[in-house]
Amino acid sequence: MSANPATICINGQWQNAKNKQTIDVFAPSNGKKISAIARGDAPDVDFAVKAARAAFEGVWSKTPAVERGRLLSKLSAKIAEHANELAELEAKDTGKAMKLARNDIAATVRYFEFYGGAADKLHGDTIPFLDGYQVIVNRVPRGVVGHIIPWNYPAQMFGRTIAACLAAGNTTVFKPAEDACLSVIRMTELAHGVGIPPGVINLVTGLGHEAGAALASHPDLDYLSFTGSPEVGTQIQKMAAEHHTPCVLELGGKSPQIVFEDADFDKAIPVIVSAIIQNTGQTCSAGSRVLVQKSIYDRFVAQLADKVRSVRVGAHDADLDCGPLISGAQCERVKGFLARAQADKIPVLAEGAIDENAQPGGYYVKPMLLGPVDPAHELAQLEVFGPVLVVIPFDDEAHAVQVANGTAFGLIAGVWTENGGRQLRVAKQIRVGQVYINGYGAGGGIELPFGGFKRSGYGRAKGFEALHEYTVTQTIVVNHG
Ligand code: ADP
Repeated sequence: MSANPATICINGQWQNAKNKQTIDVFAPSNGKKISAIARGDAPDVDFAVKAARAAFEGVWSKTPAVERGRLLSKLSAKIAEHANELAELEAKDTGKAMKLARNDIAATVRYFEFYGGAADKLHGDTIPFLDGYQVIVNRVPRGVVGHIIPWNYPAQMFGRTIAACLAAGNTTVFKPAEDACLSVIRMTELAHGVGIPPGVINLVTGLGHEAGAALASHPDLDYLSFTGSPEVGTQIQKMAAEHHTPCVLELGGKSPQIVFEDADFDKAIPVIVSAIIQNTGQTCSAGSRVLVQKSIYDRFVAQLADKVRSVRVGAHDADLDCGPLISGAQCERVKGFLARAQADKIPVLAEGAIDENAQPGGYYVKPMLLGPVDPAHELAQLEVFGPVLVVIPFDDEAHAVQVANGTAFGLIAGVWTENGGRQLRVAKQIRVGQVYINGYGAGGGIELPFGGFKRSGYGRAKGFEALHEYTVTQTIVVNHG
């Protein structure tokens, strides 16, 4: 890494935060300090927004779509070239196992590849109108876009947001999470190295209530993209509303896996376990509720419990099934849920194991399977953001749909049944942005529109759909006589 991680990047210049302060960065695997990042604040954000505005009105709006696409493709290749370095950085910074970090970097490469190819394929429309008129509907970039992203998938979030945002012709001020952002700092440097012009990507690291709040409340933003907790999402919308800044929000979920009596257990169980332990449960789309039909409940749960018992947790470089949680605070939060579940006498069906290599000072918790859980209990309603899977029994299709839809969230769902009619019938009744039949998740799922219903947020990321989010229509009506 050549850019000093304790600097921010504005208009292509790496510099200290104006207050010269930094924030220490700790490795989740052992709690030791590994780096420091700049503690950017309102003056830095303001400077960054001005740089993004100048680049938007200047160089970037004059760069043809095909050229923007080529630059993104070059960045894709550059990230692929640095894949090992970036995966190691990501694993050390977030605590995630190396194999997951490698997958994350591969997905990041794909984001820049996909949107690099898509940049010159986004086009507007014409509308038949009155005699003597021609109506042209242009798709124009929104302008200066603020991004506030979480710590769970920093590299992927950089790819998912920046690639689509730039392909559509916008410039950005990017505020990654203070808990993990080293890969983002490095990729910002790589982006400038491949020729993305200064001012197009401005990176301001810092704390949520300082740099994040300054960005969300900035009067000169055209659009704001936020991914994180529902609580902060509410604050963000209030800040953005002050200046009528439109937002796209992805706020997590409590995603159900619905297992019917004719499901293929051998296919379902490894996927169901992997969907909750991936990234140690710190995934918005984690499959955190398993709804199991009563007629197979005991048999299915026994097999599921066996699989959970085989899960091993360890340091990022031990490359086991999952790593530590991101921080002491997150560890306390997850343990709080487990303590309350114990007080409420919810049976523990199985737990995974923490490996011997897990160092003291790391933020480790055992993966847990609990159930049966009342669908109204907080464990079945709230996002734990840890490796905690709850089992809820159901009677029939209608009951399954009712329980699946019975939370405030609506991000994704899995349906496990060999009955073709039921697959679609159930999928169409669940109020979520993505439904997987006999599977769950799609790796990065770069091509697939992604986003929530209800409290999981609004707007869509990924796929071609994201290019529509990052643009607006402008209608030109010509009276040519
Ligand atoms: P998580 O569940 O990932 O911890 P948060 O919602 O706390 O989610 O954080 C997501 C992002 O939002 C981070 O970049 C964080 O710095 C930022 N953030 C946290 N609080 C605020 C705030 N009050 N205003 C703006 N951004 C914030």
